[in-house]
Amino acid sequence: MLRPIRRALLSVSDKTGLVDLATELATKFGVELVATGGTKKAISDAGLPVKDVSDLTGFPEILDGRVKTLHPALYAGLLARRDKTEHMVTLAAHQLPEIDLVVCNLYPFEETVAEEGVTEAQAIEKIDIGGPCMVRAAAKNHDAVAVLVEPEQYDDFLLELKNHDGQLPKDFRKELAFVAFQRVTQYDAAIAEYFHGLMPDAEPDDEADEPTEWADEIDPPFDLKQTLRYGENPHQKAAFYVEPDLEHPCVASALQLHGKELSYNNILDLDSALNLAREFSAPAAVVVKHNNPCGAATAASLADAFRQAWDGDPLSAFGGIIAFNRPVDAATAAALTDPTAKRFVECVIAPDFEPAALAALRGWKENVRLLRTGELTGGPEGLDYRRVDGGLLVQTRDTGADNPDAWKVATKRKPTDAEAAALRFAWLVCKHVKSNAIVLATGTQVVGVGAGQMSRVVSVDIAAKKAGDRSKGSVLASDAFFPFPDNVELAAAAGVTAIVQPGGSVKDADSVEACDKHGIAMLFTGVRHFRH
Ligand code: 5GP
Repeated sequence: MLRPIRRALLSVSDKTGLVDLATELATKFGVELVATGGTKKAISDAGLPVKDVSDLTGFPEILDGRVKTLHPALYAGLLARRDKTEHMVTLAAHQLPEIDLVVCNLYPFEETVAEEGVTEAQAIEKIDIGGPCMVRAAAKNHDAVAVLVEPEQYDDFLLELKNHDGQLPKDFRKELAFVAFQRVTQYDAAIAEYFHGLMPDAEPDDEADEPTEWADEIDPPFDLKQTLRYGENPHQKAAFYVEPDLEHPCVASALQLHGKELSYNNILDLDSALNLAREFSAPAAVVVKHNNPCGAATAASLADAFRQAWDGDPLSAFGGIIAFNRPVDAATAAALTDPTAKRFVECVIAPDFEPAALAALRGWKENVRLLRTGELTGGPEGLDYRRVDGGLLVQTRDTGADNPDAWKVATKRKPTDAEAAALRFAWLVCKHVKSNAIVLATGTQVVGVGAGQMSRVVSVDIAAKKAGDRSKGSVLASDAFFPFPDNVELAAAAGVTAIVQPGGSVKDADSVEACDKHGIAMLFTGVRHFRH
């Protein structure tokens, strides 16, 4: 059953993504926002209408915030059964408003007790009381109320809301309730574990270390580096294993200098971003989202490379993972942190950070993860493993196959020198995009990417749409051959002037003919870069 969201109660410690969520809720879906002190300030600073919790309760936040939301006026609105007349009559009699959505993440207890030198009093102040109560109340009444406990959930939630005209289906609310109860359980377990450690005769408790125990049982041929809060999704357990005696620069050996604990998805994206950045000899910057580059550029300076990489697709770059192939200098840090650009970045990985750059980035955002790899010598090493149900696929890495000097001109027109340079750049980026992969580049800046489509021509279409006007005069790289000339027709319509692709299709002649018709120069590499 679908339920509308008319009023939301927001109370978050981690304000990541809050303003975007609040903006969408208020402006797109007409939701009334109610929030606790700090959350309210962040929302109203962004110019959005938001009520204070005390407007609903008629009672102020007291006792240094220990009592903020613990009030029957709120709990009635959260817990009332909408299908029970008696409950609804009671709400009406006391003039208590219904609350349809809770957005709450808890005081950072786990992070606080993980810090060195934290006193018992400091730890105790980080035990959230009202937050878990609210989350449990909303999750219990998920028949009518939705609950979000992590910023990572916001995008999916908004998509679901969009797909159902501002309402939410019951199955989705139930799934949110499950994640909410899981989060509260995890939180209370961390508190109990901390108190166990305070007991005078405390012995190490094996059971309390359950994620490590689980991770030990997997026993891959790697060493456990760290257990992760969760996997790709909050209901999946996860851990990070690294090769024994690891020395070469990579995400597994990188040193985290600042920011929140890495997540499973961060590690995947950092690996992809770094492995693309290290392909280039000129100063390079790469922006990765969901394991695909959405921006990449090389330039005379790292700061310019970064600006061009970001500008390749600024919409997608928001919340991205950035990799550099050179130490981050002050100018690059200034470009990243430019207040007028309002960038949100999850992680930055680089061979090093100059002291001024490190200080600027540390001061920029508390959560942004900064990782130092050391000088990037060579490419990724070792075999590539991929798990399938019941088996393990092993292959050598997709490195060392390219030789641009051996590329063949397939068309009447040869690429100009500028086109040839752009094609080499686009080809390298394309190798790091999920198939079917299409990359449009202007000079050494990516301007459009079509990734992971089941049909190549759709990837061409997406890349051209992403590039917009910038597709005119751009070059195109395709990770595998064109099965039909329709790809060329679409590229020509977008204004592409040169193409690089492996060749080898039975219909190559048709694609070459289409290129010749449009004056496009096309190179065949003889090498394919599928990335499944
Ligand atoms: P804000 O930054 O909006 O002032 O506070 C947000 C935080 O307060 C959230 O982490 C939320 O879980 C927590 N919170 C909300 N209500 C209460 C309460 O009644 N008592 C306590 N201790 N924490 C609360």
